[in-house]
Amino acid sequence: MIGSTPRTFVLECDVCHRPSGPGAYFCASCDVLNIDSERRAYAATRWSRLGAFTLDYLIIWLTAGVGWLIWLAIVAPRGQSPGKSLLGLHIVRADARSAAAGYVWLREFGWDAAIGVVCVGLLVLLGAVASSVGELLLLWFWLTVVFWAFSFLDAAWLLWDRDRQTLHDKVLGTLVVELARQPR
Ligand SMILES: [Zn+2]
Repeated sequence: MIGSTPRTFVLECDVCHRPSGPGAYFCASCDVLNIDSERRAYAATRWSRLGAFTLDYLIIWLTAGVGWLIWLAIVAPRGQSPGKSLLGLHIVRADARSAAAGYVWLREFGWDAAIGVVCVGLLVLLGAVASSVGELLLLWFWLTVVFWAFSFLDAAWLLWDRDRQTLHDKVLGTLVVELARQPR
């Protein structure tokens, strides 16, 4: 009987006209960035995110960090890291404004710096009660393990996150997109 079935309201995407999914920044069907009025930005795929990570680490390693830093200084105003610039990815803020250079620097360094400070702080605090050099080295080892585990969890978060955000993306309110000339 018409009228007796419960109605469900589904938000329709402007671009692909399929259900866009609840509350997400991106359309669940076509990945377009909903809050971008020009509808040119799409969620970067998990593969391109992984590629950009790998390229960044490779460039850091190949240039002993120096070349990567100079490159970052050039592309940061465009909302990119060296790895992202090679793959055409851009960092935008969750309110669809493009990320200022300061955001890019903070995104690249802020998280690791924060965990590093916490680890060194713990080392100093716990080191004060350590009774031998051996204990201190063991402590240093475990804090290093914790540091890398957190860094890994931070990056791996995008694998299951609905908006493909890492933990540092969530803290800073940033998204990673690629620009498309025509809707997919
Ligand atoms: Zn869509």
